[in-house]
Amino acid sequence: MAECRLVIVGSGPAGYTAAIYAGRAGLSPVVIAGAVTAGGNLINTTEVENYPGFPDGIVGPDLMDRMAVQAVKFGAQIVYDDAVSMDLMGPFKRVVTSEGGAYSSPAVIVATGSEYRKLGLAAEKKFVGHGLSYCATCDGAFFRDKPIVVVGGGDSAVAESLFLARFGSSVTVVHRRAELRASAILTQRAVAEPKISFEWHSMVSDIRGASSVTGVELTDVRTGERRELSAAGVFVAIGHVPQSALVAGQLATDAQGYIIADHPSTRTQVPGVFACGDVVDRVYRQAITAAASGCAAALDAQEYLGTLRAEAAFAATTM
Ligand code: NAP
Repeated sequence: MAECRLVIVGSGPAGYTAAIYAGRAGLSPVVIAGAVTAGGNLINTTEVENYPGFPDGIVGPDLMDRMAVQAVKFGAQIVYDDAVSMDLMGPFKRVVTSEGGAYSSPAVIVATGSEYRKLGLAAEKKFVGHGLSYCATCDGAFFRDKPIVVVGGGDSAVAESLFLARFGSSVTVVHRRAELRASAILTQRAVAEPKISFEWHSMVSDIRGASSVTGVELTDVRTGERRELSAAGVFVAIGHVPQSALVAGQLATDAQGYIIADHPSTRTQVPGVFACGDVVDRVYRQAITAAASGCAAALDAQEYLGTLRAEAAFAATTM
C-alpha cells in the first residue's frame, strides 16, 4: 500500500487542475488517470474554441496533454490505471487500481467525470464499433461518402455533425424536439452547412443491419409514427451521465447520480473527501468550469490536510 497525502481519482480538466494546485502546494498528489481514458472526455473532442488563453482554439487531446505535463512539473505522480475500488469512510482512504496498485491517503479528490449517455436500445450493444459510435473524432473517417445519422440536439451533437460533414455524403441530425439546445454559433454553422439536415420530433427507436449498420428506425414522438432512414453510421451524442458508481453507498448522490457537495465548497459529507468536475456538475459541464472546481477541490483538500496537521501537532504538545 503506497502512502501519500492526496489521491486524485480522474484526469479530466478537474482532476488535472486539482493536481496542478495540489502539486504547487507541495502535496505530491497521486492522480489515478485511467488506463485508456486518461484526459477524460476532451480526449475525444476536436477543436476547443472557448477555453480561455487559446484564441485560435486547441484540440482537446493537446489541451489535456498540456495539463498533464503541468501537473507533473509540480510534482504530481500520474498513474495510468483505472480505480476499481475506493474505501472512503475511515481516516485513511484507500484506492485500489485494476493492476493491483493500492494507495492510502487522508484526503481524496473524486473527479471521475461522466460517460456517454446511451440510447438504451438492445441493438446498441450489437452495433457499437460496427457503425454505431459515441465519438465522431474517433470514428468519423470510417464513413467517408456515406450517409450518417447523429442523435441529439446539444452542443456535442451539433459540433459532431459539423465535424462529420467533412466525411459523410449527408448528416441527418435526429432530435426529439424542434429546437436545438446547442449554442447559437454552432446552430448557425450547422444550419448553413448544406450536408446537414434535421429530423425534428424524432427518436431513433431501432438500429437496422445484419453485421453492420444499414439504417435506423425513427419514431415521431408526437404521433408514434415510424419510418426508416438509411445510414451507414450512427453517432449518439445525447449527453453524459456522472461516473459515481465507484463511490455509491459512501457519498451522497442525487437521483441522477451526481455527487452532492457542500456548494460552493467541494466538500462531500465524508471528511477528507472532495468532489469536483462533471461528477458533481449537472448544470455547466464545461472544461473551464470543471477546471475551476478542480482548483477549489485542491484548495479545500489543502485546508483539510493543514487542519489535520495542526491538530496532530497540538495533540503532540499536550501529551
Ligand atoms: P446536453 O447539452 O445535455 O444535450 C443533450 C442532448 O441530447 C439534448 O438535446 C437532449 O434533448 C438530447 N437527449 C438527451 N437524452 C436523450 C435521449 N434519451 N434520447 C434522445 N435525445 C436525448 O449534452 P452535450 O451536448 O453533450 O453537452 C454537454 C455540455 O458540454 C454542455 O454544457 C455543452 O454546452 C458542453 N459542450 C460544449 C461544446 C462547445 O463547443 N462549446 C461542445 C460539446 C459540449 P433535449 O434538448 O430535448 O433535452
